[in-house]
Amino acid sequence: MMRHVRGDDLVDAFGRVVRDLRISVTDRCDLRCSYCMPPEGLEWIPSEEVLTFEEIARLAALFKGVGVSSVRLTGGEPLVRARLADLVSDLRLIGFEDLSMTTNGTGLARNARKLKDAGLHRVNVSIDSLLSHRYEEITRRSMLAQVLQGIEVAMTVGLAPVKINCVVMPGTNDDEILDFVEFARLSGCQVRFIENMPLGAQGGWSPEQMFPAVSILALVEDRYDLAELPRSSAPARLFAFADGSPGGIGVIASVTAPFCETCDRLRLTADGAMRTCLFAHGELDLRGPMRAGASDDELLALIRAEVHAKGRGHEIGAAGFRQPVRVMSRIGG
Ligand code: SAM
Ligand code: SF4
Repeated sequence: MMRHVRGDDLVDAFGRVVRDLRISVTDRCDLRCSYCMPPEGLEWIPSEEVLTFEEIARLAALFKGVGVSSVRLTGGEPLVRARLADLVSDLRLIGFEDLSMTTNGTGLARNARKLKDAGLHRVNVSIDSLLSHRYEEITRRSMLAQVLQGIEVAMTVGLAPVKINCVVMPGTNDDEILDFVEFARLSGCQVRFIENMPLGAQGGWSPEQMFPAVSILALVEDRYDLAELPRSSAPARLFAFADGSPGGIGVIASVTAPFCETCDRLRLTADGAMRTCLFAHGELDLRGPMRAGASDDELLALIRAEVHAKGRGHEIGAAGFRQPVRVMSRIGG
């Protein structure tokens, strides 16, 4: 892929250029998805260690200055952070081409209008079952109706396109794949099926807990004619319905067909660590230097060095693979 690189861009040793920043605003969450968190939750990051909105905005502006054009807010559950719309307003002023959020949707009906007015462009909503009893089994909370209502409100206020994230797990929700496809066609959303990755707090991931993207596609193509859309740097392979129906589907084969070669992403955790990869074993503390008075140039020098040292890719499935100590909800998915 041709990459247009400008002088100040953040470029790693393999020539990948950073364009996308995931900002986790909290590690806390109101759900307890079984593949992500134990029922009792986790030991939360103490609030004094969590970046303030001012600190997040300062770093976001720094990243904007070195070529980051898209920001996604995530968590934990971003909507459990109080006054999130204030942060969205700050980020809007910095001026990103794309400003989005990944949410479990439980607080979306209440917040969608405020977020849209503050400058959020779009949302991805995570939902792994359309059956209330199963949604409750997976998330250990009974909130499906609230989430579906949140999706509707998000569409109504124009947080579009609304995308749905669905982690497919064999024996848990794989029998709902076609129901999700119908949901996409009826609602006009894009449903993206995601392979389950080894990032849960309870460890114990094995390949059998992952439903491969090729099998998902085979199932869908058995029923519907799909037209593949041109691939961007985004990790999903995306498809429209050949019959012209609204909506669409995507598959994210993070495990079976990693997209590390075109990865243009960085992550900032709620406690101010920058991570170059979900699966990295190292990370750069930015909160410490920032609170000790580091200048923008000093912070950028640290950031450049960490980006330069980004590894080639993850090695899920390889003999020596080790799950990172930081779990998904503390990194920001
Ligand atoms: N709480 C928000 C949510 O659920 O959308 C945002 C954070 S969550 C960590 C972001 C995304 O990561 C969700 O779509 C979730 O389903 C996904 N996720 C969490 N753990 C995962 C895992 N082990 N493998 C694949 N996806 C995972
Ligand atoms: Fe919360 Fe999202 Fe993890 Fe589910 S996947 S427990 S909603 S952070």
